Amino acid sequence: MVKRNLAKFNKTMGFQISHSNRQKRKPFLGPETDHDNDDGINGSVIGRLLSPPDVAGYASWLLKHPSAWSSFDSVMKEAKGKKVVVFLDYDGTLSPIVEDPDKAFMSAEMRAAVREVAKYFPTSIISGRSRDKVKEFVQLNDVYYAGSHGMDIMAPPRAVKSCDKKGNEGGFQPAKLFLPAIQEISLELEDKIREIQGARIEDNRFCISVHYRQVPPKDHRILKEKVKSLVENRPEFRLTEGKMVLEVRPSIEWNKGDALNYLLNTLGFSNHAKDVLPLYIGDDRTDEDAFKVIAARREGFPIIVSSIPKDTIAWYSLRDPSEVLAFLLRLAKWKKS
Ligand SMILES: [Mg+2]
Repeated sequence: MVKRNLAKFNKTMGFQISHSNRQKRKPFLGPETDHDNDDGINGSVIGRLLSPPDVAGYASWLLKHPSAWSSFDSVMKEAKGKKVVVFLDYDGTLSPIVEDPDKAFMSAEMRAAVREVAKYFPTSIISGRSRDKVKEFVQLNDVYYAGSHGMDIMAPPRAVKSCDKKGNEGGFQPAKLFLPAIQEISLELEDKIREIQGARIEDNRFCISVHYRQVPPKDHRILKEKVKSLVENRPEFRLTEGKMVLEVRPSIEWNKGDALNYLLNTLGFSNHAKDVLPLYIGDDRTDEDAFKVIAARREGFPIIVSSIPKDTIAWYSLRDPSEVLAFLLRLAKWKKS
């Protein structure tokens, strides 16, 4: 059943999945400038056709970060009899990365797979997007949503253990006091980068993203300088970089790793409980904070999504969202059986 769904999905999307069959993959449509646009399926396919992938480099990287799909049985061996808690990034993990961030839709198959996983495991989506936006994309009720890199958390409506210490029904916004300043910055930014063609501001509520995927490369430097100069005058904010995106965020110590810890506690799992195994799948630099938390526990499943060798502290990997889909279906099936 899983195989059939996967084959159908891959056929529709034109993906290939077998690691043992890598030499037969289609020519690689590779990264633009930062080696971070790593999905053969992402928006960068609109870019130029590059030389074939460094298969040797990827193969040796894969030895250090084994495929969670290809080695599913051995990877999941340690989960027998334990409680697996699932955390998923959105862009580049559940959805392909596309030119227009408003169109990063997830497929119906992926939605069904996440719904299936959420039936058996507590499941949270942790994204840099605003919580409302990511919920609009995912459209599922039975999952936790953490937007703005975990700075805006909400439990599903019927979650049982969803109240924090203040009785906020699973809602948690550690950066709430920053909201007025964030709105000010958003307006200032809009003014500053108005004349840069293709630049796009996304209001993620607790952080502001400046997307430059559609900005001509010659203007990247000036755009970065403009955003940087604005943040420099505001020590209560800091600038981080993702895939073709600059992000202005409150300088509070709160990241996707803190969100993971917060959610584990909220879900009623003690942070150090040995029978709890967090599983986190993500593709970007901000996901490394969550990988770090799992690595420090020395148990769990930090899984990076990447089709190129990449510096990461994740122990396992998945090649692209099509493998994430396959993995999620298999995970649900594993629990069912
Ligand atoms: Mg991502």
